[in-house]
Amino acid sequence: MSKKVLVLAEVRDGELRNVSYEAIGAAKEISSGGEVVAVLCGEGLNEAGQSLVHYGADRVILAEHSLLSTYSTDGYVQALLQVIGHEKPDGLVLGHTALGKDLSPRLAARLQSGLISDVTSLEQAGDNVVFTRPIYSGKAFEKKVITDGLVFVTIRPNNISPLEKDESRSGDVSSLAVDVKDLRTIVKDVVRKASTGVDLSEAKIIVAGGRGVKSEDGFKPLQELADVLGAAVGASRGACDADYCDYSLQIGQTGKVVTPDLYIACGISGAIQHLAGMSNSKVIVAINKDPEASIFSIADYGIVGDLFEVVPLLTEEFKNV
Ligand code: FAD
Repeated sequence: MSKKVLVLAEVRDGELRNVSYEAIGAAKEISSGGEVVAVLCGEGLNEAGQSLVHYGADRVILAEHSLLSTYSTDGYVQALLQVIGHEKPDGLVLGHTALGKDLSPRLAARLQSGLISDVTSLEQAGDNVVFTRPIYSGKAFEKKVITDGLVFVTIRPNNISPLEKDESRSGDVSSLAVDVKDLRTIVKDVVRKASTGVDLSEAKIIVAGGRGVKSEDGFKPLQELADVLGAAVGASRGACDADYCDYSLQIGQTGKVVTPDLYIACGISGAIQHLAGMSNSKVIVAINKDPEASIFSIADYGIVGDLFEVVPLLTEEFKNV
């Protein structure tokens, strides 16, 4: 049965996040030929709305209000409840991002709906869609079906394919005035640490360092390799705890969960808590001077050696590609 599915698209620094396109891909599957309606919250988002149409949204709603220009749980919950009340969708898809993780349980509670979070794949099975999500820190996967009520899911970035961009796709992009008031918190300003510009949670290539980098300076060769590859730099908690880098780089059970096409682990032993955040990467390369390091058990390619020799060699090689 065809369904109407709403997608919350995310914009950061004026740019749509890739997970928004992936959410449209997921929503297409869930809708079974029904309608996919993308929602953008904020102001001045017409161009982003057009881009969502090119990636497959049948229609885009711009929920416009000055208080939605920066994210707040209260504001977004109010706006989305109004859009949902207006559209009465059968399904709702959000990215399993910091925003989606914060917003989705609150929305599910307000809608008295179930929620399947952190979906990594989905497939049709008769009239239902079967959603797969990792459990026990990625050691097992469970498959879930929603047979009744709103099909509400969050999807893990970098796992579900978006549709190909097609600029000939057309769809209505219209504004919906939403009433946002009595916010308990108002974001006045967002101050971000300087970064290379590649968002770790959406990066296609990650070069990650562990305690084996030995110092803050030890991250420099990793950053050089990352620059050549257009990659983001990540870290183990060992490296963060040792103060070699900022905790915003931490990957793992208590850090970010990433699924890049290529993960290069440098001087990381491969503790289960680290694997929880990166073991679903498509190709894993491990560089470690200990041939017994457990990271090698999940690596597709292993290099036994000193990262301070191996990483600069790789950087030089990739410069010539
Ligand atoms: P180590 O285990 O010390 O490994 C360093 C590696 O570097 C070694 O294998 C060594 O052989 C290699 N090495 C040293 N020098 C070189 C060199 N010159 N060249 C090449 N290789 C070299 N960890 C996370 O990463 N993410 C998490 O989210 C996380 N959450 C946790 C949650 C809980 C509740 C707990 C208890 C732990 C958590 N941990 C997490 C910590 C985790 O258990 C490990 O302690 C941590 O991952 C180890 O980091 P590491 O691999 O960098 O360091």
